[in-house]
Parts: sequence; C-alpha cells; structure tokens
Amino acid sequence: MFVLITDMEKRGIIIAIDGHSSTGKSTFAKRIAARYGLVYVDTGALYRGVTLFAIRSGFISEAGEINGERLFKELPNLRLRFGQATGSSGSELLMNGRIIESEIRGLEVASKVSIVAALKPVRNYVDAILKEYGVTGGVVMDGRDIGTVVFPDADLKIFMTADPKVRAMRRYREMVARGEEANLDDVLKNVIERDYLDENRENAPLRRAEDAVFLDNSDMTEDDQMLWVEKLIEKRWSRKEN
Ligand code: C5P
Repeated sequence: MFVLITDMEKRGIIIAIDGHSSTGKSTFAKRIAARYGLVYVDTGALYRGVTLFAIRSGFISEAGEINGERLFKELPNLRLRFGQATGSSGSELLMNGRIIESEIRGLEVASKVSIVAALKPVRNYVDAILKEYGVTGGVVMDGRDIGTVVFPDADLKIFMTADPKVRAMRRYREMVARGEEANLDDVLKNVIERDYLDENRENAPLRRAEDAVFLDNSDMTEDDQMLWVEKLIEKRWSRKEN
C-alpha cells in the first residue's frame, strides 16, 4: 500500500472531492491528504475570501445585492493565498497577507458566498489560483466543480452528499464548538439555500461528474469514510499499475 502511494505522489495526482454544503468534504479531504502525503486545497475558502472582501469593501448589500462592476475591477488587487496553519487544520487563508480563517467561516459570509461564487469573473479568479496547484499536482481539492470544470481529468473524483438535516446538525455543532451563536433552523435554511443556488447557477453548477464515485455519508463516521476511501484508492491504483 505504502509503495503504491509513493508512486501516486510522484505522478502528481489530483483527487477531486465535490458535493453538497456541509457534507464534511474538507475534513475528509484533509484526512486523505494527511494519510497519503498530499496537499489539501480548500477551494470553498477562496470563494469565501472573495465574499469577505466584497462585504468589507461595501460591494455587497445586506440583502445580497452585488455591485459586480466594482468588485470585478478590484479583484486583480486581491491577493488570496494559503499559509501554513499552526494547528491541525492544515492550512489557513490569508487576504493580502492577513489571516482571515475565522472571519470566512461565519454565517454572514456563508449567507452570501453562493451569490458571489455564481459570478463568472469570480470563478475565473479562483480557477486561476487552483490551476497553479494543478501544475505540480499531488493535491486533494474539495469544492463544487473540481471534477467537472477545474480538473475534469482528475485521477479520482468523489461526489459527496448527506441528508440536509444531518448536514445542518453537523454545521451547527461545529459553530457552537467554536463559540459562535447559532440557530439550527437558520443553519438548515442556509444549507438548503446553498444547495439550490449551487445546483441551479449558470456558471459551473454543482453536479456529479459521470465518472465520480458517489458517497452518501449520512450514516457514516469519519473513520468509516477513511476505510471506504482507502479501499477505493487501493483498488483504483493497483488497477492502474497492472
Ligand atoms: O465548501 P464551502 O462550503 O466552504 O464553499 C462555500 C461556497 O463556495 C459554496 O456554497 C459554493 O457556493 C462555493 N463554491 C463553489 N465552487 C467550489 C467551491 C465552493 O462554487 N469549487
């Protein structure tokens, strides 16, 4: 198994994990990255970063109306990059050199991010950052369009989903654990709203790539998922080796 993975790394593989909001994609992707010595890239964080930038710059109203013209004009001056996190989270997002990890996780950003992420110039901006990672490979990326649009030739694609109520409860617990104020009904509403916006937008809508392996984790623990993916990886790469 270990020899197999070292080989994978050498080949600069890309693992794409797409799926609905709050399915635990990032936790899963981080564990896969740690398990196989790959780099984890949280693509949703970049959309959240652009959204935070739009909110702080006054380009987006309380009601979610965006001044696209001003936002698109300022995007080239926005520098979003991942830095090395000190904790166990793997990486943290920096905006023009300042850590914005906790700001991008709140409900204000969550309630506007899907509107911002639907805009073509924003997607182009994020895609350009993601493509840089693709050049070297050896990455696990989670998002909504990684296996369909950003890296349609990814070596392994996984599409994750779970019951919306289960997802809302997970997100709610995370927020409470972080000491944030949270209301389960609001979180559920946000989960359902984001599914709808992500699946129905014109640009790079969320959908399962034909060659993606489906994973409904409503009744699975994180360890169950790791066993599942380890089997999958072992099978996939030993088949490629033959
Ligand atoms: O994964 P996360 O929940 O942090 O993503 C935040 C939002 O960013 C999603 O709801 C989606 O609207 C958008 N997104 C996207 N394409 C990606 C990743 C995230 O449109 N590849």
